[in-house]
Amino acid sequence: MTSEVTYDYDLFVIGAGSGGVRASRMAAAAGQRVAVAEQQYLGGTCVNVGCVPKKLFVYASHYHEDFTDAAGFGWDVSPPKHNWQRLIENKNQEISRLNGIYLQLLENAGVDIVDGRAEFVDSHTVEVSGKQITAERILIAVGGEPIVPDTPGAECVITSNEAFYLNECPERVVIIGGGYIAVEFAGIFNGLGVETHLVYRGSQLLRHFDHAVAQFVTDEMTKKGIHIHFNTTIDAFEKNSDGIHCQLSNGSTLVADQAMCAIGRRPLTAKLGLENTKVSTRNSGSIVVDDRFATDDPAIFALGDVIGTPELTPVALAQAMVFVDQRFGEDVREMDYHSIPTAIFSQPNMATVGLSEEAVRAKKIPANVYTSEFRHLKHTLSNNSERVLMKMIVESETDVVLGIHMAGPDAGEIIQGFGVAVKAGLTKSQFDATIGIHPTAAEELVTLRQVNYAIE
Ligand code: NDP
Repeated sequence: MTSEVTYDYDLFVIGAGSGGVRASRMAAAAGQRVAVAEQQYLGGTCVNVGCVPKKLFVYASHYHEDFTDAAGFGWDVSPPKHNWQRLIENKNQEISRLNGIYLQLLENAGVDIVDGRAEFVDSHTVEVSGKQITAERILIAVGGEPIVPDTPGAECVITSNEAFYLNECPERVVIIGGGYIAVEFAGIFNGLGVETHLVYRGSQLLRHFDHAVAQFVTDEMTKKGIHIHFNTTIDAFEKNSDGIHCQLSNGSTLVADQAMCAIGRRPLTAKLGLENTKVSTRNSGSIVVDDRFATDDPAIFALGDVIGTPELTPVALAQAMVFVDQRFGEDVREMDYHSIPTAIFSQPNMATVGLSEEAVRAKKIPANVYTSEFRHLKHTLSNNSERVLMKMIVESETDVVLGIHMAGPDAGEIIQGFGVAVKAGLTKSQFDATIGIHPTAAEELVTLRQVNYAIE
């Protein structure tokens, strides 16, 4: 006689962020009985304290420059004044709307939503708000949280989480870090008229990206008035009546109304009760999975920011689709991390797909490099000195385009399109055979004819 175990659900998902919501909906659509637990807000980091509000802030801050640019086109705009509270209110309203949409999507898909923090009791059981729930499979999609340094006085430092909810816009800000969030927020605050200092421990911002393009963005940021302190760390923070005193490693002190750290994010695995399962984690706290999102515990799976793959919403969404296909579908899909396009919403924007020049050199691939630097058509009349840089790297032997990197307006929009071509492995000749759209900045990428230099 066999005894069959019955579970409350076929799939229990922990975390209703980008990956968790997508996996829940798709698994339910595939006929599974699904529940998702969320301790904070539907939509996770991306919707609430990440991509979406960040992009809204970037739009908000860029108006400053747009008003100035408008003069060259004949507009007289009286000195513009920004209302921070209105921005926050409107942003909050939009986030609430999106939270509602996520709720509706889950409900319409037939997913049960469980409010509260889930903790593992055993491999098939979680406890949420005192209630135990069982499932045949459990998917961890809890994402991450900003890292706060253990620098003395760091309790007065904010992270991006708080920056989205400040009651007042600071007059002076110090941002620590040199990656995506630091660079994006430096642009946001600077655009809003805040005296902005970026304190970075190294000598090259965005150092994992193509160096020439990252340097170009750095130069443009400096031109726009951001004070960048390279090779500098902060030894201590102290909150005084005149602001937060940031003691720099070079002996000087910066005083600001807000100090914000953006030094990376850590997986939210600490209080999950993983010790009650066979799930393994790395030193960073991220969960070890195989290429089918299986942890070391046969009943438990994980995806998204918590597994140490690129911390990007579209990656989590793709992982969720692949996971559902593999476990509840035809099992014909697998995750491919090759040539993931990405954008930094710095000002100007920077976007990239494929290999950087440094990666091509490290792999010793002989290649030709094409670059084009120019003034955007819009800035001929605006008199704005901002420039655009485009860079394409082409493998010498095969003519395949290995990487495209860009800094300039709408870089993310442009590289999203060209990302398909790079992903498809198209050749430079195929780019050349494509007719440009005139006048656009993007047409430059199909009219690059002159090799600037070769990588041997
Ligand atoms: P990043 O990993 O992009 O950058 C972290 C930065 O902090 C680096 O410059 C790093 O320096 C520096 N740093 C790390 N530790 C310390 C320390 N102890 N003291 C001082 N500096 C330190 O992390 P972010 O926090 O900016 O963003 C987290 C992730 O979120 C990103 O990696 C990205 O995946 C995602 N994200 C994506 C966005 C997008 O798609 N546009 C926007 C925002 C975030 P070093 O370079 O020397 O290591």
